Amino acid sequence: MTKALFLDRDGILNIDKTYIYRWEDIEWVEGIFDLIRFANENGFLVIVLTNQSGVARGKYREEDILVLHKKMSDYLAAKNLRVDDWIYCCEFDSERRKPRPGMMIEARDKYDIDLSQSFMVGDKPTDVLEIEGPSPKTFLLKGNYPLVGAKAEIYESLADILKRIRSLTLSSS
Ligand SMILES: [Mg+2]
Repeated sequence: MTKALFLDRDGILNIDKTYIYRWEDIEWVEGIFDLIRFANENGFLVIVLTNQSGVARGKYREEDILVLHKKMSDYLAAKNLRVDDWIYCCEFDSERRKPRPGMMIEARDKYDIDLSQSFMVGDKPTDVLEIEGPSPKTFLLKGNYPLVGAKAEIYESLADILKRIRSLTLSSS
């Protein structure tokens, strides 16, 4: 079994400007490269789980998402960083749409991931997924959305989240 670092996209990889689909609108969030590097070097798969209902709303096409994710991957690769998979949900009403756990279950089954050894990083209460049984420890980054009542540890920066993940990873190995 393997472990994974699950990342929300908008607000965690790139600054959330709502309905992002163009490369020119990508502004990377401070600390994201260090977080991905840590995961790459410490045996975590890096898997993005992103709600993209902009497709269902007619704001952009699924094709736009694929093109954008390819460009983001290429940019990261040039820094020797790797995202292993980009999983997205285009619909509003779907078992895959966060906070429902469909996308994470898909990833778990595809890569044989031990969720109890995994982490999820997001910036909305809906990034705390409603998964039954073993589930990843979830960290939320303070930013664009109210996080009151969210069942997760809340941090001011990705650097703080990395510090926490590093301490949990090193203490369990
Ligand atoms: Mg987000």
